[in-house]
This record gives sequence, structure tokens and C-alpha cells, in this order.
Amino acid sequence: MLEYENEYDFENRMVTPEYVPEDSDTENPLRPKSLTEYIGQEKVKENLSVFIEAAKQRKESLDHVLLYGPPGLGKTTLAGIIANELHVNLRITSGPAIEKPGDLAALLTNLNPGDVLFIDEVHRLSRSVEEILYPAMEDFALDIITGKGQMAASYHLPLPPFTLVGATTRAGQLSAPLRDRFGVVLRLELYTPEELSSIVTRSARILGISIEPQGALEIASRSRGTPRIANRMLRRVRDFAQVVHNGVITLESARLALDRMEVDEIGLDANDRRMLSTMIQFYNGGPVGLETLAAAIGEEAVTLEDVYEPYLMQIGFLSRTPRGRCVTPAAYLHLGLTPPGSREEKAVEQQSLF
Ligand code: ADP
Repeated sequence: MLEYENEYDFENRMVTPEYVPEDSDTENPLRPKSLTEYIGQEKVKENLSVFIEAAKQRKESLDHVLLYGPPGLGKTTLAGIIANELHVNLRITSGPAIEKPGDLAALLTNLNPGDVLFIDEVHRLSRSVEEILYPAMEDFALDIITGKGQMAASYHLPLPPFTLVGATTRAGQLSAPLRDRFGVVLRLELYTPEELSSIVTRSARILGISIEPQGALEIASRSRGTPRIANRMLRRVRDFAQVVHNGVITLESARLALDRMEVDEIGLDANDRRMLSTMIQFYNGGPVGLETLAAAIGEEAVTLEDVYEPYLMQIGFLSRTPRGRCVTPAAYLHLGLTPPGSREEKAVEQQSLF
């Protein structure tokens, strides 16, 4: 029988890649301001630097950029870097915050030429807002219709040229007309432990924390490929090291702190283990459909897709098949279980035959 950990409070989850208010103290000073400071994502940086340079040479606004990938990988940070490198202002908003077409019109008419408008969760824009956005992106103009029937009048208002940087965790949910209007589409990948280790070391330097390289690598290895989680862990491990280890983050103090937080050596927490255990115990390791699984563990399907799955797939613990999600043998082994069809299990089956 598998054991279940206590119900876990998602809001307080150490390894949630989504922004939580307590991140705000450290996120601002830690955000890299230029492409050279931005660690990892080499392909994205290479492409962006060419496009930025070309736009600067032509003295034109940069083409609209769509950034997609799981939360906490540096999309907002990149939008800021794009604005910095272009020497223009950055305006930040999000899909759900733009409720009415008028809200978007107000934002757009207040931009200075060349400015960057960052819309986070761009897949959550309403249809009526999206329709205002199309001509704005394409022709730098607002098409507004006022009144009804015979009194109706349409206005074509020119806008300053601007760059829209859209961010989304799910490019597939973007409507096709909106997706087609982004000239540059860049996918952010989960970071390697080595890259995260550099990020942790850089953050520690900025925050004045003493850290040994092995301590940084330990935090990095448990941060599920996500800088936001790495920075959050750094802060918590620092508290721990301060109380029990003279303030220096060593391999030992990092291990101790992270074990206490119930984040295991590869970054899985109680929620991940609960999801994998549920799949194994109730669905023989899969395939199991996303909605069924979400209901079984009491989470939203989108949370599973955005938060749990990217990392579990990256480390090869979960696979997606047309019939649903499957747990891989590596995940069984990590949980201390015997994968189905393995030699050990066959031996047990044969013993029970006799
Ligand atoms: P997203 O918008 O994708 O959710 P953010 O841009 O808010 O992610 O990044 C979260 C945190 O991670 C920020 O505090 C930032 O400092 C850090 N970060 C993200 N990417 C990098 C990177 N490539 N190098 C250094 N720090 C990074």
C-alpha cells in the first residue's frame, strides 16, 4: 500500500514555478538587465540579439515577439531586457487585466514610439480585446466603431509603432490569428542544473550570501529547471544556513534545508509523488486521461499541465501518449517500486504461480 502525504497547500508549495507575493523582494534586484547577464536559453538569446540589432540599425520598432514556456523561466525578465537593449520603455500588463477593448486602447495610445508592451498570459485575452489588437499589431492603428445603426461611425486612429511581447505558458491555446501576428516566436526551455547553479551563484552574490559551489549545485538540482524556484530556495536555504551553519551555504546545509522542506534530491515534492503514486496505484501507471487524473488528485487540469508535467516529462518520469499520461519505469524506481514487466516483477509473478 502506498503512503499518502498530507494534503499540500498549493499556495505555499516551495516548488511552485508560479509567482507568489513573497518572491517580490528578491525578484526585482535579481532580474538580469541585459542579454549578456541572462544565463542559459542560448538559442533564444542568439536569435533575439540579431533581431534587436537589426531593428536598431533600421531605426524601426522590433517585430512582435511571442515567448512561450512554463512559468518562472524568465519571460517577464526577457521582455525587460528587450526594452533595455532597445532603450525604450516597458509597459507590463496581462491578458486577464485587460477587461475591455477600451482598456487596451488606453494602453496603446499612451505608448511612446518604439515602446515595448508586455502582455503576460496573452492566451487569456478576451475575443473583443483581441480584435482591437489585430490592426494595432499589423498597421499600428486602432479601428473604433461608435454608435449604432445609422449613427454608427468608424474611426481609424494611428498609433505610435510599438513592440508587443506576449508571454504564454500554452502556445496551443492562442487563437490562430493572434499567433500569426507575432513575427518572432521563441520557446523557453527548462534550465540545466549547471545553468541554474550559475543563476544561484549570481543571485547569492547580489544578495550578499556566502555559498559554496556544491551548495549552489545542490539547490540547482532540486529547482526543477526553473530560476524562480532556484531563487526562492536560495532565500530559504540562507535562513537555514544562518541559524545552523554560520550563514554559509554548503552542500551539507543546502541538503539539510531542502530535506526539511520535503523537496527530494531531484526536486520532487509531496504533490509530485502523490500524482505519480495515484497513477500507479489506481491506473496501473497509465495511460490515464488528464481530466481523470486531475480529478483523482484534486487539482486543476491546467495546473497539472503547466506546473507538474513539464518537469516530470523533462526528467523522463512521465510520458504523454494519445491515450493519456503514463508513468515510466524510472519513476517507479525513484519511488522505490518495481516497474511492471521488469525482471523482478516477473520473478514474483512466477513464484506466485507455484
Ligand atoms: P516568467 O515571466 O517566465 O514567469 P520571470 O521573468 O518573472 O519568469 O523570472 C523569474 C525569476 O527568475 C526572476 O526573478 C529572474 O531574476 C529569474 N531569472 C529568470 N531567467 C533568468 C536567467 N536566464 N538568468 C538569471 N535569472 C533569471
